[in-house]
Amino acid sequence: MAFQQMILISEALKIIKCETFALSSETINLENSVRRILAEKIFADMNLPPFDRSQMDGYAVRTKDFGDVSENGSVILKVIGESAAGKGFDEEVKSGEAVRIMTGARVPDGADSVQKKELAREAKTDEGVSFVEILESTKPRQNIVLKGAEIETGVKVFDQGELINVQMIASLASFGYAKVRVYKKPRVAILATGSEIVGINKRPEQDQIRNSNSIMLKVFVEKCGAETKVLPIVKDDISNLKSQILHAIKTCDVLIISGGVSVGDYDFTKPALRELSAEIFFEKIALKPGKPTVFAKLDDKIIFGLPGNPVSLAVTYFLFVRAALLKMQSAKNCELQKGFAVLLHKIKGAKARDSFLPAFVQTNAKGKLVLESLRFSSSSNFIAFSRANCLVFVPRDENLEAGDIVKILFLS
Ligand code: AMP
Ligand code: MG
Repeated sequence: MAFQQMILISEALKIIKCETFALSSETINLENSVRRILAEKIFADMNLPPFDRSQMDGYAVRTKDFGDVSENGSVILKVIGESAAGKGFDEEVKSGEAVRIMTGARVPDGADSVQKKELAREAKTDEGVSFVEILESTKPRQNIVLKGAEIETGVKVFDQGELINVQMIASLASFGYAKVRVYKKPRVAILATGSEIVGINKRPEQDQIRNSNSIMLKVFVEKCGAETKVLPIVKDDISNLKSQILHAIKTCDVLIISGGVSVGDYDFTKPALRELSAEIFFEKIALKPGKPTVFAKLDDKIIFGLPGNPVSLAVTYFLFVRAALLKMQSAKNCELQKGFAVLLHKIKGAKARDSFLPAFVQTNAKGKLVLESLRFSSSSNFIAFSRANCLVFVPRDENLEAGDIVKILFLS
């Protein structure tokens, strides 16, 4: 076996992006589209608002009617009808006239402003004719949102490759996208290995621990718009591992194996991949944690071998697997959002390896983003990880000092 050199994180990402294939698209109901990637451009199919719309309950009036009236600006106008939301007033408002109007209703022709109800007094004559005293003059367009002011027909609202989030649903609905075209979900198989691993519903016996990785990966992967199949735990047994790998890749696009990627006597992930003649693109990254991360392909299916330690698994998932899953869905942004924060305490870098360490970022009383690394916690490191909301970058062979401005990746 040839000695494999450590490759840089950026090189690993380049290889992953180059080797992942793009999935086709499908049309789904809007309500199921959150966290999927748009496979079409979204256009406004109508003006919003579709007509000059009143922002107030009140009276649609003509500003000119205030022109030559008393010094307090009030005027008495004849109420000739009503414009309600969904049922506008179709005649023209002429000089000396007003129309009672509701919020969201169409401003009738002839009127150019709306005075709010609180500044008007309406009364009926004995003959049943309504008049309104408008107590304060208006300016043109007052309390009116003009037709197309929010968006005009034909304008692009969202682009292909954008991630659909919950805030976008109202816009999609407003332009009639009851169904929306998105990229298909990558089908991801999850395989935990290790003779010490038992199901989370079991009481571990001596030498055993529960399988936290499979469910963690399932949740991460599904949040990324993919669908998952969690396979039974495989003990450190190369022939069983090989047959599970072959079985898994029949029905998935991506296989994630947890554990068994290092150089121990019972680490069989790489030997199994080799015996199956998988193409291994890299198996060592200059990264801490996550050095023994493996990226391979077998029968055109993508295989990740991630370290079994839950924090290493989470970090390598966020840096590499997440990017691959988003790339397969043709997402515009495949990597975690970057940011900067002020470090609260020193962090030692690792020799020859860049670090991405779980950290907690928050805004302090002065409005600064400040960062606390979670590596120094006395609790078990995956318990500390549960508080993490970002990863902090520590360049190889460097130490970061308190007060340094550091690069972070927000976990999402
Ligand atoms: P490995 O990568 O197989 O050498 O495992 C590294 C560490 O992670 C060991 O302490 C394992 O017990 C632990 N580990 C491996 N797989 C899992 C898992 N599925 N859930 C929780 N811990 C695990
Ligand atoms: Mg193991």
